Amino acid sequence: MSDFLIVGAGINGLLLARELAETGAEIVIVDKNKAGSESSWAGGGIVSPLYPWRYSTPVTDLASWSQQVYPQLIAELFEETGIDPEYVVSGLLMLAAADEKAALSWAQAQRRNMEKVDSSFIYSKEPRLASEFSSALWMSDVANVRNPRLCRALKKSLLLKNNVNLLEQCELVALEKDEVQISTVRIRQLDSSREERIKANNYIFSSGAWTHDLLKSAGVTINVKPVKGQMLLYKFEKLPLSTILLTQSRYLIPRKDGHVLAGSTMEYSGYDKSTTKEAKEELRNSVVKLLPELANEEPIRQWAGLRPGTEDGMPYIGQVPPLRKPVC
Ligand SMILES: Cc1cc2nc3c(=O)[nH]c(=O)nc-3n(C[C@H](O)[C@H](O)[C@H](O)COP(=O)(O)OP(=O)(O)OC[C@H]3O[C@@H](n4cnc5c(N)ncnc54)[C@H](O)[C@@H]3O)c2cc1C
Repeated sequence: MSDFLIVGAGINGLLLARELAETGAEIVIVDKNKAGSESSWAGGGIVSPLYPWRYSTPVTDLASWSQQVYPQLIAELFEETGIDPEYVVSGLLMLAAADEKAALSWAQAQRRNMEKVDSSFIYSKEPRLASEFSSALWMSDVANVRNPRLCRALKKSLLLKNNVNLLEQCELVALEKDEVQISTVRIRQLDSSREERIKANNYIFSSGAWTHDLLKSAGVTINVKPVKGQMLLYKFEKLPLSTILLTQSRYLIPRKDGHVLAGSTMEYSGYDKSTTKEAKEELRNSVVKLLPELANEEPIRQWAGLRPGTEDGMPYIGQVPPLRKPVC
């Protein structure tokens, strides 16, 4: 019997498995897809909340701590696995933010690196930006990371450990419980439809947007909803921008190799992950307002992912209360 069974091998499950493995614990981690192929693949990899001052203090504390440990995590993973997740401190330029005053006082209270900058700063940083911006908020220490590579590096790191068993294409299909706790879980191998029961001392659900439905069967309510985000990808010979640009919740993220990501929509349409022409047009119209030359470029790819969304933006981290009978 393993010490921990982790359900979901997205960024959260993979990181958790790696931390727990360091303690010597025996870990089983299952995913119904390939590890790191859902939201953690689809995201933009900005290592910061988008408008960081709009979150509660606990989220700020957690995000600030994470931002500080990222460089070390990336360096360790690169050394261990040879995969470079391309952590780049590109900075974040927030144009025409409606609540600049609140942002600046948050930054001062939190001792965060944020300054109000004028048009001469803006256009010296990003000469190809649309011409109408006269002021912005600049956070020079915000980074972005190639999230698919980060997940690949984490997966490889886990495969190198002999106390971690990663089971891909294995779906948790049922939780079996007694009055107060999960006793076993039923896992189905998706390629053969073979089912087996797995028992662990502790069960951890890092199953992203699917967590609500998974735990509902055990009578536990977690208010996580799938929030679809669509993205566009452009490719340039030479990058037309060097920083992350953000306005009205739409952003452009430059990657080292000439790719530029444009995101993202927020859609409440259940587990539907299809991409739409409407979203493509909407995203194109938004980002052309940042970088006019994008009007002449065709995106080379469009995709969608499902964020695990909560009403107040707070993540669920902690112990699940003793199980109750499901309420019908
Ligand atoms: C378009 C878009 C842009 C984003 N941009 C950013 C950004 O720039 N910066 C940022 O910080 N965040 C961003 N995010 C959010 C970020 O991607 C997510 O918060 C993060 O990836 C969540 O990770 P996770 O491990 O919780 O979930 P996921 O990566 O979704 O992983 C959950 C895993 O659980 C598995 N699973 C579910 N049910 C079962 C089951 N029954 N049995 C077995 N396995 C199961 C799934 O297959 C999946 O692999 C973005 C998201 C999207 C969609």
